Amino acid sequence: MGATFQARSFDLMDATELAREFKVFQHGECEQYGNDAYAGHLGIKDGLSVTAEKFESYGQAESWIEENNDKWGPAHAVKFIHQGPPEFPHTKADDELNRRYKALKHQIHEGFEQEVISRARKMKSKLYTCRKCGSKIATKFIKEIYCPVCSSGEFLYTPTDAKRVKAWLNKMETLRVRIEKRKVALKNSDKKNHRTYRWLIGGWCAS
Ligand SMILES: [Zn+2]
Repeated sequence: MGATFQARSFDLMDATELAREFKVFQHGECEQYGNDAYAGHLGIKDGLSVTAEKFESYGQAESWIEENNDKWGPAHAVKFIHQGPPEFPHTKADDELNRRYKALKHQIHEGFEQEVISRARKMKSKLYTCRKCGSKIATKFIKEIYCPVCSSGEFLYTPTDAKRVKAWLNKMETLRVRIEKRKVALKNSDKKNHRTYRWLIGGWCAS
């Protein structure tokens, strides 16, 4: 059993947001590539350690993580300078678009999901049946929105919940498309040497 080094860059955001983004990313990886202890991808890392390290390039950031990460510990996040066209959000209008997108995301992930989790934990029945895979989960162990067996993000939703979330997600999707268009426009702008920080998250993954 060895270890494989994996890294992935993320937009600049605050540490709390980054931890949240990474968690969502991890669940996606596990759904796609499996979640056994030797799956060899970042999805199986035990949490995230956000450091204050900053580097001049992606390569330097990657080397630092390679030297400092333990295969059984959390993934490490460091900042590196990305040189190229400006990144979204760049203008005041971008900020506003970004703010609306994030507010909606917060409403779903921090507001609604937490509500659904605490509702499940307070149920009279001691067991909860996953709506996707049918596994029975002890309600006192429900701590997040993902099914501990199949990783489904909808396992606690009633049909009404699913409908509400779908409407929010549609709204979010509209904003996301607008954001994507702005990203493309910025990429094609003639300011090619703009310097911005990005996050690099990486680590050794047991394989
Ligand atoms: Zn399930």
